[in-house]
Amino acid sequence: MAKRDYYEVLGVSRNATQEELKKAYRKMAIKYHPDKNPDNKEAEEKFKEAAEAFSVLSDDNKRARYDQFGHAGVGTSDASSGGFGGFGGGMSMDDIFSQFGDLFGGHFGGFGGFGRSQGRRTNRGGDIRVKVRLTLQEIAYGADKKLKINKQVKCNTCNGTGAEHGTAFTTCSTCNGSGTVIGVTNSIFGRVQTQSTCPTCRGTGKTITKHCSSCSGSGVVSDSEVVSFHIPAGVSEGMQLNVSGKGNAPQGGGVNGDLLVVIEEEPHEELIRDGNDLVYTLFLGFPDAVLGCSSEVPTIDGKARIKIDPGTQPGRVFRLKGKGLPDVDGYGRGDLLIYVSVWVPKNLSASEKEQVERMRDSGSYAPKPDKSDKNFFDRIKGMFGR
Ligand SMILES: [Zn+2]
Ligand SMILES: [Zn+2]
Repeated sequence: MAKRDYYEVLGVSRNATQEELKKAYRKMAIKYHPDKNPDNKEAEEKFKEAAEAFSVLSDDNKRARYDQFGHAGVGTSDASSGGFGGFGGGMSMDDIFSQFGDLFGGHFGGFGGFGRSQGRRTNRGGDIRVKVRLTLQEIAYGADKKLKINKQVKCNTCNGTGAEHGTAFTTCSTCNGSGTVIGVTNSIFGRVQTQSTCPTCRGTGKTITKHCSSCSGSGVVSDSEVVSFHIPAGVSEGMQLNVSGKGNAPQGGGVNGDLLVVIEEEPHEELIRDGNDLVYTLFLGFPDAVLGCSSEVPTIDGKARIKIDPGTQPGRVFRLKGKGLPDVDGYGRGDLLIYVSVWVPKNLSASEKEQVERMRDSGSYAPKPDKSDKNFFDRIKGMFGR
């Protein structure tokens, strides 16, 4: 199923303010809250969809990327992105409550606490950011990547609990085993009581009596993991894609952070990228520009030939439709633009210079630009930063 537009999901305009977004999201979240709609799959999906939309649009960076690139820009494009979990695999309820619990302050308390976790906020591991350098070829077709990531993983000896043999616990005295502490904060809804994770036991409700010897009680150890993921075609420099759950494991158990993949572009030897278009500068020898020729040009798929008419002016642009890069959201392909330039030789022999001098003496070589040619001015514009 295609993902819905985030603005549509929240029922706001594309230039909605942060306040309008919060208001819209709060309305949706209350309407579809799982406590109000027990065992209602559709409401749960709506609840998650709204949370996902809000999580992107409430973050200025993510919102900008979403506005520019759509779902792929924030790693949530599910159709083409394959391995990219992002939200594609769905935000879990725990994720939603841990991320947006604060926004609702005590309000959800009226519905019986923060859903199923009763205010216990999920402990989440840190994200890991890696750079991936792609050739233009990989960008054109998408790429499957495998990276060895050094990270914190769950300690197997104690199963992430941090306690010797995974069992040496006693009830936490700070929270009396509830895993949460109550505080009062100012939120957008005024002064509200909030529940937050107990700092002593990190929400587990238990404290360790004897630390695990493998991880010294942290519940995590340093290791590496080979992570495979797919990069969709059409990505560009600086885009970030999220591989859900492949970041660090948190200390004391909980959900993993994400692996954030930042795209870098390897410059192509001959082709320059301009959005989804590719640009190539074709140098013609003066005789070829005068007499016409068939010229070889590079494309992303290898070589192509184009026909150069006699009398082709420098600045002429040939457009090979659809020979550019695919749009990252799947809306068609760019073109390959071939700019003609005429090569002027420098080191001529005496007899060659004589030839050129004879050309100069003949009247036919004096410039006579045809200003009625409407392409002429387009070409001039093209020379100055298009
Ligand atoms: Zn351990
Ligand atoms: Zn505690």
